[in-house]
Amino acid sequence: MQKVWKGKIAAPSIDLVRDVALPPSKPCPIELATIRGIQSRCDTGDTMARRKKIYEGKAKILYEGTEPGTIIQYFKDDATAFNAEKRAVIDGKGVLNNRLSEYFMTGLNNIGVPTHFLKRLNMREQLVRSCEIIPLEIIVRNYAAGTICTRLGLEEGSALPRPIVEYCYKDDALGDPLVSEEHIAAFGWASQQDMDDILSLALRVNDFLSGMMIAVGIRLVDFKIEIGRVYDGDFQRLVVADEISPDSCRLWDIETGQKLDKDVFRRDLGNLTDAYTEVAQRLGVMPKGATQMPKPTLIN
Ligand code: C5P
Repeated sequence: MQKVWKGKIAAPSIDLVRDVALPPSKPCPIELATIRGIQSRCDTGDTMARRKKIYEGKAKILYEGTEPGTIIQYFKDDATAFNAEKRAVIDGKGVLNNRLSEYFMTGLNNIGVPTHFLKRLNMREQLVRSCEIIPLEIIVRNYAAGTICTRLGLEEGSALPRPIVEYCYKDDALGDPLVSEEHIAAFGWASQQDMDDILSLALRVNDFLSGMMIAVGIRLVDFKIEIGRVYDGDFQRLVVADEISPDSCRLWDIETGQKLDKDVFRRDLGNLTDAYTEVAQRLGVMPKGATQMPKPTLIN
């Protein structure tokens, strides 16, 4: 008998999406599943069975894309902090980050800030352009929080005189150390032209995200982006890559100061999914009242 998804459907079964070695299955009979307002093409085992895993990180898995030059990013529910010393699986986080990152990246594409994002495929996956990631984490800070407070003795929440851009060398084993432009040039991680472009991209992302957040009563305290190189024939250009989500930003309610980002997990401040849902709802990415991610029910 044919299997159908019934009732209020959440993400396609997480196991269906996560397992790369599933046997081929029949196409899902429902093309579009409405999950609390989120439209998602129902995924099937067909594509999963054939795809090749390229890399698994702390919060995402990368698979070979459907066309040359593309990659599929799968957003996991895994949360890590303090260089993976603290870990948890947080139901629904991957779904929210996939949706929010799509929203931010699409907005950036629309205002002419190039990103790797092509399209969202389903609740947990998006198709992106494959690019060569520059081994730097680019951090932009508007208010003092996190490591800048420990490093410079600043009071959390104090306004910085202007947006401050920092660079960290992407290396988990070393704990992503802060580096200077001198290190970046000397070790050839990026050229001077790249650094000019990276700074300009980072500040444009900051302006865009800050404005978007202020409009919904949220302060963009800081964020991290990654930059990739894409090649068009003999030319290379830089694009915003990886993800932009509450995992990689600090977002505080302007009125109350409530934290709506990964610090909720880092500092045990409450329910992380609720915080990310609040951000998604304010931005209109999820309808009001959608506070839970129900599990799908598979019936015969
Ligand atoms: O920890 P720190 O204060 O340096 O983080 C600055 C910003 O960069 C925060 O928004 C944090 O979530 C983000 N970040 C990140 N990934 C890292 C380090 C920092 O997304 N590996």
